[in-house]
Amino acid sequence: AHLDRIAAVDGEVKAFLHVDGETVLAQARKVDEQRAAGRELGPLAGVPIAHKDVFTTADMPTTAGSKILEGWRPPYDATVTARLREAGLVILGKTNMDEFAMGSSTENSAYGTTHNPWDLSRVPGGSSGGSSAAVAAYEAPLSTGTDTGGSIRQPAAVTGIVGVKPTYGGSSRYGVIAFASSLDTPGPFARSVLDAALLHEAFSGHDPMDSTSVDRPVPPVVEAARRADVEGMRVGVVKEFAGEGAEAGVTARFTEAVELLESLGAKVVEVSCPHFTYALSAYYLIAPSECSSNLARFDAMRYGLRVGDDGTRSAEEVMALTRAEGFGPEVKRRVMLGTYALSSGYYDAYYGKAQQVRTLVQQDFRNAFEQVDVLVSPTTPTTAFPIGERADDPMAMYLADLYTIPANLTGNAALSVPCGLADGLPVGLQIMAPVLGDDRVYRVGAAVER
Ligand code: GLN
Repeated sequence: AHLDRIAAVDGEVKAFLHVDGETVLAQARKVDEQRAAGRELGPLAGVPIAHKDVFTTADMPTTAGSKILEGWRPPYDATVTARLREAGLVILGKTNMDEFAMGSSTENSAYGTTHNPWDLSRVPGGSSGGSSAAVAAYEAPLSTGTDTGGSIRQPAAVTGIVGVKPTYGGSSRYGVIAFASSLDTPGPFARSVLDAALLHEAFSGHDPMDSTSVDRPVPPVVEAARRADVEGMRVGVVKEFAGEGAEAGVTARFTEAVELLESLGAKVVEVSCPHFTYALSAYYLIAPSECSSNLARFDAMRYGLRVGDDGTRSAEEVMALTRAEGFGPEVKRRVMLGTYALSSGYYDAYYGKAQQVRTLVQQDFRNAFEQVDVLVSPTTPTTAFPIGERADDPMAMYLADLYTIPANLTGNAALSVPCGLADGLPVGLQIMAPVLGDDRVYRVGAAVER
């Protein structure tokens, strides 16, 4: 049924980069056989899933939305891919994304733009826009994404679905093509909070292959999503993000969501997080710095594209030609920004300062969670914007992640859940919890979900 749905709508939505019907059906048959043989299967066995094209898949290409990896077939599965295969989920295919997950609209993909199923002239968010659009368009019931600065929560918000950034280190980065390693966090997309929790639980947990993986039990997210009550919980409204910079329609839906929380028995208070407003600037130094280092591996020798290797050029020339042709403009901008910020003489002024801001944001969270159990804000300042509107204005594009970035800088858990429409377009409510308090965002998310 999902393959039929993809065939019917993906010509317009363009969520997928790769779908191979035969491989899909072969996986489904294998699950049937296992079931017939009496094998005990998990709760998601046989459920189809779409993976963001940043997770390596041994039987399918993996491009990270970049021309530099066109046609690359990874020799191994990411931990997230492998665990979900083992749990019996059927991989429908790979979804479109901003190149190397840099962007907020999926317009930075080397393979064309994905369209928002609510209004095809608008973006589905990014960088995991293929994964959000696939779930919103009913092409897949579940999908995976990665959230480095908001790339799961923001696309979930603007396509009217649920998206979660787990605690950093709670989900494995092994086999996830790296963007900014201290921020990258795999997480789930689904159409309900409980579905997201089931997926979260299926791929999370300690992984010895990822040195930053957290060796602690997975928070009880499914139990929390089933519980779905906020009676007696203390909810903090981030003063600096309540309304500031947001569209009127977004502010209106957010205010109603806060009223709903109160009517369900939560105690709502305003909490000040004075350094949250600096998070975006700090992020745009830290993320490019880490990316400039991570993307050095695309050297024309190890993977994918190789340009100009005709026997007359040096390895360095081939590398330069390959990177000039293989990377898109946003990736080049970030590599240049990052290289500059990390260079000796500027390190203290830029990268070092940004890391200090990171500590201040962490202190804001710590102070806040002494007063409240969760923090809430709108997920994004605006609803889905028209394709092309911000394509040539990186600063306007970066603002899409104004509210999501603090939780990335500090590793906190955060979720976006739909909270109504503004001018016919979905609005998301962001719920943030302490590190390893992932169950709280599911509990509150499930309580306000309508
Ligand atoms: N939009 C942000 C960026 O471009 C976040 C991306 C992400 O979370 N992968 O860096």
